[in-house]
Amino acid sequence: MTAYDNDNIFAKILRGEMPSNKIYEDEHVFAFMDIMPRGDGHTLVIPKVPARSITDIDPSDLADLIKGVQKVAQAAKTGMDADGLTIQQFNETAGGQIVFHIHFHVIPRWEGVKMRPPASAMEDPAVLEANAEKIRAAFA
Ligand code: 5GP
Repeated sequence: MTAYDNDNIFAKILRGEMPSNKIYEDEHVFAFMDIMPRGDGHTLVIPKVPARSITDIDPSDLADLIKGVQKVAQAAKTGMDADGLTIQQFNETAGGQIVFHIHFHVIPRWEGVKMRPPASAMEDPAVLEANAEKIRAAFA
């Protein structure tokens, strides 16, 4: 098993060493906007425990993580007024993983609107924050 790197970008976001557009946080998970969204409102949900991928996270931590994913998915669908959602999770480079702290992608979807390619463009920070606010409001 490859070791967890404490200096990966999501670990830094969790420690508050790097900024993020935070959506939601509880004792187990942290959710924030993806800076290169594949669709409007694209959110990432990460566990607070250090884990690299689905093969090494403790099963009970994975259960807490997926509960957080569902909460964020409900808020993202409502807040973004989406028709549906795509949930993605990648493991290791061969599986498409770029950041090695396990995460789920929550991507709002609308009928007839294709997802943008992965990591295609940095979003305007004002757009990211506006979409973050819509999703946060749906938790209220
Ligand atoms: P992966 O392919 O590992 O599942 O996806 C990593 C995701 O993290 C990508 O969608 C990418 O746009 C996003 N990402 C990479 N660096 C940062 C960052 O510094 N901040 C945020 N908010 N997202 C990031």
